[in-house]
Amino acid sequence: MSFKGVALVTGAAQGIGRSIALRLADDGFDVVVNDVSSNSDNLKTLADEIQKKGRATSHYTADVSQEEQVKAMVEHAVAQHGSLDVMVANAGILGPNGPLVEVSTEQWDRVLGVNARGTFLCYKYAGMQMIKQGRGGRIIGASSLVGKRGMGILTAYSASKFAVRGLTQAAALEFGPHNITVNAYAPGSITTPMLASLDPSEGLDAAKALSPLKQVGAPEDIASLVSFLASQESKFITGQTISINGGAFFD
Ligand code: NAD
Repeated sequence: MSFKGVALVTGAAQGIGRSIALRLADDGFDVVVNDVSSNSDNLKTLADEIQKKGRATSHYTADVSQEEQVKAMVEHAVAQHGSLDVMVANAGILGPNGPLVEVSTEQWDRVLGVNARGTFLCYKYAGMQMIKQGRGGRIIGASSLVGKRGMGILTAYSASKFAVRGLTQAAALEFGPHNITVNAYAPGSITTPMLASLDPSEGLDAAKALSPLKQVGAPEDIASLVSFLASQESKFITGQTISINGGAFFD
Protein backbone atom coordinates (compact mmCIF):
# COMPACT_ATOMS: atom_id res chain seq x y z
CA MET A 1 0.00 0.00 0.00
CA SER A 2 1.34 3.44 -0.89
CA PHE A 3 2.40 6.00 1.72
CA LYS A 4 -0.58 8.20 2.71
CA GLY A 5 0.88 10.22 5.56
CA VAL A 6 1.24 10.14 9.30
CA ALA A 7 -1.63 9.80 11.77
CA LEU A 8 -1.52 10.30 15.52
CA VAL A 9 -4.19 8.67 17.70
CA THR A 10 -4.53 9.60 21.39
CA GLY A 11 -5.96 7.25 24.01
CA ALA A 12 -5.07 4.37 21.70
CA ALA A 13 -4.10 1.62 24.18
CA GLN A 14 -7.64 0.21 24.33
CA GLY A 15 -11.22 0.56 23.12
CA ILE A 16 -12.12 2.92 20.27
CA GLY A 17 -8.64 4.47 19.93
CA ARG A 18 -7.00 1.08 19.52
CA SER A 19 -9.46 0.14 16.79
CA ILE A 20 -8.94 3.48 14.99
CA ALA A 21 -5.14 3.07 15.08
CA LEU A 22 -5.31 -0.43 13.56
CA ARG A 23 -7.76 0.72 10.88
CA LEU A 24 -5.65 3.72 9.87
CA ALA A 25 -2.63 1.39 9.60
CA ASP A 26 -4.70 -0.88 7.30
CA ASP A 27 -5.60 2.24 5.30
CA GLY A 28 -1.90 2.90 4.69
CA PHE A 29 -1.03 5.53 7.29
CA ASP A 30 2.03 5.39 9.49
CA VAL A 31 0.57 5.66 12.97
CA VAL A 32 1.85 7.21 16.19
CA VAL A 33 -0.10 5.87 19.15
CA ASN A 34 -0.47 7.67 22.47
CA ASP A 35 -1.80 6.88 25.91
CA VAL A 36 -1.00 7.55 29.57
CA SER A 37 1.94 5.78 31.22
CA SER A 38 -0.34 3.49 33.27
CA ASN A 39 -1.50 1.93 29.97
CA SER A 40 1.93 1.72 28.31
CA ASP A 41 2.05 -2.11 28.12
CA ASN A 42 -1.13 -2.19 26.03
CA LEU A 43 0.24 0.69 23.94
CA LYS A 44 3.44 -1.22 23.14
CA THR A 45 1.42 -4.31 22.18
CA LEU A 46 -0.61 -2.16 19.79
CA ALA A 47 2.53 -0.68 18.22
CA ASP A 48 3.84 -4.24 17.66
CA GLU A 49 0.59 -5.14 15.89
CA ILE A 50 0.82 -2.08 13.64
CA GLN A 51 4.43 -2.89 12.79
CA LYS A 52 3.40 -6.43 11.79
CA LYS A 53 1.02 -4.81 9.28
CA GLY A 54 4.09 -3.31 7.61
CA ARG A 55 3.50 0.27 8.70
CA ALA A 56 5.95 2.54 10.50
CA THR A 57 4.78 3.27 14.03
CA SER A 58 5.88 4.58 17.38
CA HIS A 59 4.28 4.75 20.80
CA TYR A 60 4.39 7.92 22.84
CA THR A 61 3.29 8.25 26.45
CA ALA A 62 1.71 11.61 27.31
CA ASP A 63 -1.18 13.06 29.27
CA VAL A 64 -3.23 15.07 26.75
CA SER A 65 -4.38 17.50 29.43
CA GLN A 66 -0.77 18.78 29.80
CA GLU A 67 0.28 21.37 27.21
CA GLU A 68 4.03 20.66 27.22
CA GLN A 69 3.36 16.94 26.79
CA VAL A 70 1.05 17.46 23.81
CA LYS A 71 3.52 19.86 22.20
CA ALA A 72 6.34 17.32 22.67
CA MET A 73 4.12 14.51 21.33
CA VAL A 74 3.47 16.35 18.07
CA GLU A 75 7.19 17.21 17.80
CA HIS A 76 7.97 13.52 18.31
CA ALA A 77 5.60 12.48 15.50
CA VAL A 78 7.22 14.93 13.08
CA ALA A 79 10.80 14.11 14.13
CA GLN A 80 10.26 10.34 13.87
CA HIS A 81 7.94 10.14 10.87
CA GLY A 82 8.46 13.37 8.92
CA SER A 83 5.02 14.99 9.17
CA LEU A 84 1.62 15.00 10.85
CA ASP A 85 -1.33 14.63 8.50
CA VAL A 86 -4.14 13.22 10.64
CA MET A 87 -4.75 13.98 14.34
CA VAL A 88 -7.35 11.82 16.10
CA ALA A 89 -7.95 13.40 19.53
CA ASN A 90 -9.68 10.34 20.93
CA ALA A 91 -8.53 10.23 24.58
CA GLY A 92 -11.29 10.78 27.10
CA ILE A 93 -12.49 9.88 30.57
CA LEU A 94 -15.98 9.34 31.90
CA GLY A 95 -15.52 10.95 35.30
CA PRO A 96 -18.03 10.91 38.14
CA ASN A 97 -21.28 9.10 37.51
CA GLY A 98 -23.96 10.56 39.78
CA PRO A 99 -26.10 13.58 40.59
CA LEU A 100 -24.85 17.07 39.69
CA VAL A 101 -25.13 18.23 43.30
CA GLU A 102 -22.50 15.63 44.28
CA VAL A 103 -19.94 16.55 41.59
CA SER A 104 -16.91 18.27 43.13
CA THR A 105 -14.99 21.06 41.41
CA GLU A 106 -11.94 18.76 41.38
CA GLN A 107 -13.93 16.08 39.49
CA TRP A 108 -15.31 18.70 37.10
CA ASP A 109 -11.82 20.09 36.40
CA ARG A 110 -10.36 16.62 35.82
CA VAL A 111 -13.02 15.62 33.26
CA LEU A 112 -12.94 18.98 31.45
CA GLY A 113 -9.13 18.92 31.67
CA VAL A 114 -8.81 15.66 29.72
CA ASN A 115 -11.87 15.81 27.44
CA ALA A 116 -12.07 19.53 26.61
CA ARG A 117 -8.60 21.02 27.29
CA GLY A 118 -6.91 17.83 26.03
CA THR A 119 -8.85 17.98 22.76
CA PHE A 120 -8.13 21.72 22.44
CA LEU A 121 -4.39 21.10 22.90
CA CYS A 122 -4.37 18.31 20.32
CA TYR A 123 -6.23 20.52 17.82
CA LYS A 124 -3.91 23.46 18.58
CA TYR A 125 -0.57 21.69 18.08
CA ALA A 126 -1.80 19.56 15.17
CA GLY A 127 -3.19 22.70 13.50
CA MET A 128 0.08 24.60 13.97
CA GLN A 129 2.05 21.75 12.41
CA MET A 130 -0.35 21.22 9.51
CA ILE A 131 -0.43 24.96 8.70
CA LYS A 132 3.39 24.94 8.70
CA GLN A 133 3.45 21.94 6.34
CA GLY A 134 1.10 23.78 3.98
CA ARG A 135 -0.58 20.73 2.44
CA GLY A 136 -3.81 20.49 4.43
CA GLY A 137 -4.76 17.80 6.90
CA ARG A 138 -7.44 16.11 8.93
CA ILE A 139 -8.26 16.80 12.57
CA ILE A 140 -10.80 14.53 14.24
CA GLY A 141 -12.17 14.68 17.80
CA ALA A 142 -14.27 12.51 20.09
CA SER A 143 -17.62 13.92 21.14
CA SER A 144 -20.52 11.69 22.18
CA LEU A 145 -24.27 11.21 21.98
CA VAL A 146 -24.30 13.02 25.32
CA GLY A 147 -22.50 15.90 23.59
CA LYS A 148 -25.73 16.36 21.64
CA ARG A 149 -28.25 15.59 24.38
CA GLY A 150 -27.14 15.94 28.00
CA MET A 151 -27.33 12.94 30.31
CA GLY A 152 -28.35 13.62 33.89
CA ILE A 153 -25.91 11.41 35.70
CA LEU A 154 -22.96 12.46 33.54
CA THR A 155 -22.86 16.23 34.12
CA ALA A 156 -19.18 16.99 33.61
CA TYR A 157 -18.80 14.41 30.84
CA SER A 158 -21.82 15.78 28.92
CA ALA A 159 -20.49 19.35 29.24
CA SER A 160 -17.05 18.27 28.04
CA LYS A 161 -18.46 16.55 24.97
CA PHE A 162 -20.57 19.62 24.09
CA ALA A 163 -17.30 21.57 24.34
CA VAL A 164 -15.72 19.28 21.73
CA ARG A 165 -18.53 20.18 19.28
CA GLY A 166 -18.04 23.92 19.76
CA LEU A 167 -14.28 23.58 19.45
CA THR A 168 -14.67 21.49 16.29
CA GLN A 169 -16.88 24.13 14.63
CA ALA A 170 -14.59 27.03 15.57
CA ALA A 171 -11.44 25.15 14.50
CA ALA A 172 -13.08 24.21 11.18
CA LEU A 173 -13.68 27.91 10.50
CA GLU A 174 -10.10 28.90 11.36
CA PHE A 175 -8.30 26.00 9.69
CA GLY A 176 -10.53 25.74 6.58
CA PRO A 177 -8.48 28.27 4.56
CA HIS A 178 -5.47 25.98 5.10
CA ASN A 179 -7.37 23.03 3.61
CA ILE A 180 -7.50 21.34 7.01
CA THR A 181 -10.86 19.75 7.83
CA VAL A 182 -11.99 19.39 11.45
CA ASN A 183 -14.74 16.95 12.42
CA ALA A 184 -15.78 14.84 15.39
CA TYR A 185 -17.54 11.53 15.96
CA ALA A 186 -20.44 11.31 18.41
CA PRO A 187 -20.83 7.66 19.34
CA GLY A 188 -23.73 6.15 21.20
CA SER A 189 -22.84 3.21 23.40
CA ILE A 190 -19.83 1.27 22.15
CA THR A 191 -18.53 -1.89 23.81
CA THR A 192 -15.25 -0.72 25.38
CA PRO A 193 -13.78 -0.72 28.91
CA MET A 194 -15.34 2.75 29.37
CA LEU A 195 -18.87 1.44 28.84
CA ALA A 196 -18.13 -1.60 31.01
CA SER A 197 -17.48 0.77 33.92
CA LEU A 198 -21.17 1.82 33.91
CA ASP A 199 -23.97 -0.11 35.59
CA PRO A 200 -25.76 -2.15 32.81
CA SER A 201 -29.03 -0.33 33.55
CA GLU A 202 -27.28 2.95 32.63
CA GLY A 203 -24.92 1.46 30.03
CA LEU A 204 -25.42 -1.61 27.84
CA ASP A 205 -29.05 -2.44 28.57
CA ALA A 206 -30.21 1.18 28.36
CA ALA A 207 -28.34 1.65 25.10
CA LYS A 208 -29.83 -1.45 23.47
CA ALA A 209 -33.33 -0.34 24.43
CA LEU A 210 -32.78 3.13 22.89
CA SER A 211 -31.55 1.88 19.50
CA PRO A 212 -34.12 0.86 16.87
CA LEU A 213 -31.50 -1.71 15.81
CA LYS A 214 -31.52 -3.07 19.38
CA GLN A 215 -27.73 -3.15 19.34
CA VAL A 216 -24.76 -1.43 20.87
CA GLY A 217 -21.85 -0.53 18.61
CA ALA A 218 -18.36 -2.01 18.30
CA PRO A 219 -15.11 0.01 18.29
CA GLU A 220 -14.68 -1.01 14.63
CA ASP A 221 -17.88 0.89 13.76
CA ILE A 222 -16.25 4.13 14.94
CA ALA A 223 -12.99 3.21 13.20
CA SER A 224 -14.88 2.90 9.89
CA LEU A 225 -16.21 6.45 10.24
CA VAL A 226 -12.79 7.81 11.23
CA SER A 227 -11.22 5.99 8.28
CA PHE A 228 -13.58 7.89 5.97
CA LEU A 229 -13.05 11.23 7.74
CA ALA A 230 -9.27 10.75 7.46
CA SER A 231 -9.48 9.98 3.74
CA GLN A 232 -9.40 12.27 0.71
CA GLU A 233 -13.01 11.28 -0.01
CA SER A 234 -14.24 13.34 2.98
CA LYS A 235 -12.71 16.61 1.69
CA PHE A 236 -16.03 18.53 1.56
CA ILE A 237 -17.01 17.69 5.17
CA THR A 238 -15.86 20.02 7.92
CA GLY A 239 -17.13 21.38 11.24
CA GLN A 240 -19.41 18.38 11.70
CA THR A 241 -19.95 16.19 14.74
CA ILE A 242 -21.29 13.02 13.20
CA SER A 243 -23.73 10.85 15.13
CA ILE A 244 -22.94 7.14 15.09
CA ASN A 245 -25.32 5.61 17.59
CA GLY A 246 -27.50 2.92 16.04
CA GLY A 247 -30.36 5.42 15.73
CA ALA A 248 -30.54 6.05 19.47
CA PHE A 249 -30.79 9.80 18.76
CA PHE A 250 -31.74 11.69 15.59
CA ASP A 251 -30.06 15.06 14.92
P1 NAD B 1 -11.68 3.79 27.06
O1 NAD B 1 -11.75 4.25 28.47
O2 NAD B 1 -11.86 2.35 26.77
O3 NAD B 1 -10.30 4.27 26.40
C1 NAD B 1 -9.85 5.61 26.55
C2 NAD B 1 -8.34 5.62 26.50
O4 NAD B 1 -7.90 6.98 26.75
C3 NAD B 1 -7.69 4.75 27.58
O5 NAD B 1 -6.72 3.93 26.99
C4 NAD B 1 -7.09 5.75 28.54
O6 NAD B 1 -5.93 5.28 29.22
C5 NAD B 1 -6.79 6.93 27.63
N1 NAD B 1 -6.66 8.19 28.34
C6 NAD B 1 -7.39 8.63 29.41
N2 NAD B 1 -6.94 9.83 29.84
C7 NAD B 1 -5.90 10.15 29.03
C8 NAD B 1 -5.03 11.26 28.99
N3 NAD B 1 -5.14 12.27 29.87
N4 NAD B 1 -4.06 11.29 28.03
C9 NAD B 1 -3.94 10.27 27.14
N5 NAD B 1 -4.75 9.17 27.15
C10 NAD B 1 -5.71 9.13 28.08
O7 NAD B 1 -12.73 4.68 26.26
P2 NAD B 1 -13.41 4.45 24.82
O8 NAD B 1 -14.76 3.93 25.06
O9 NAD B 1 -12.49 3.76 23.90
O10 NAD B 1 -13.59 5.99 24.39
C11 NAD B 1 -12.76 6.66 23.46
C12 NAD B 1 -13.35 8.05 23.22
O11 NAD B 1 -14.69 7.92 22.73
C13 NAD B 1 -13.46 8.88 24.51
O12 NAD B 1 -13.19 10.23 24.23
C14 NAD B 1 -14.90 8.69 24.92
O13 NAD B 1 -15.37 9.75 25.72
C15 NAD B 1 -15.59 8.62 23.57
N6 NAD B 1 -16.88 7.94 23.61
C16 NAD B 1 -17.01 6.63 23.99
C17 NAD B 1 -18.27 6.02 24.02
C18 NAD B 1 -18.48 4.58 24.42
O14 NAD B 1 -19.64 4.15 24.52
N7 NAD B 1 -17.46 3.78 24.66
C19 NAD B 1 -19.39 6.77 23.66
C20 NAD B 1 -19.24 8.09 23.28
C21 NAD B 1 -17.98 8.68 23.25
